[in-house]
Amino acid sequence: MNGAIRPLVAGNWKMHGSLARARALAAALRRAADGVAAALLVCPPAIHIPAVAEVLAGSAIALGGQDCHPAAEGAHTGDISAPMLRDAGASYVILGHSERRSQHQESSALVRAKAEAALAAGLRPILCLGESEAERAAGRAEEVVARQLAESLPEGFAAGGGVIAYEPVWAIGSGRTPSAAEIAAMHGFLRRQLRAGWGEAGAAVPILYGGSVKPGNAGAILALPEVGGALVGGASLLAEDFLAIARAAPGG
Ligand code: PEP
Repeated sequence: MNGAIRPLVAGNWKMHGSLARARALAAALRRAADGVAAALLVCPPAIHIPAVAEVLAGSAIALGGQDCHPAAEGAHTGDISAPMLRDAGASYVILGHSERRSQHQESSALVRAKAEAALAAGLRPILCLGESEAERAAGRAEEVVARQLAESLPEGFAAGGGVIAYEPVWAIGSGRTPSAAEIAAMHGFLRRQLRAGWGEAGAAVPILYGGSVKPGNAGAILALPEVGGALVGGASLLAEDFLAIARAAPGG
């Protein structure tokens, strides 16, 4: 953990839940979030953002989208733009999640264009990267994430409050995580890449870990060097688990 920066614990609700459940989850987080030292962020399905924004109004819990289109507006049926997310109450947007890279064939070039759109709209992009199991087994994990980083990060990413999320694809939703040493090694590698490519600005970009973070492993993961917080999927759908993860962060 970088001691100078408050850890960020972000929940990715994916395509789960009803409107009533989104409201109830947000209300439960709001009731219990006081005194949590980590910064909290929830990313509901886009259609639930306005309702969750209403529940969270005046609280310290931030809101984010799970994706945006690279254009600010236009003939793009079914898509949502970064300015629309901003209008609805979001201040962050997750981009390049491995589910979007694999299920929607998103390339790093497209992710970069989306990150540019997010920054232009005043949203903080959370850029996801991570290797597959086969790539790790072949000893190519660093090469893969370095390429994703180089190809996905736009100009102005650090200045616009951009965040990196290292999410090994094989750890997402699987209950498996890399070892503490592997997480620390990859976060150290990413920090060196950020410094080499973006200098002092790169040194300050938060690097979250994501992939099967649970209350039981959060303390050990969040205490690792260069782990600036967590991106949480499944465990963010239960207020108690999400808050337990946030409380496990250093200073929490
Ligand atoms: C994710 O999808 O970003 C994620 C980290 O999921 P989970 O925590 O369920 O592995």
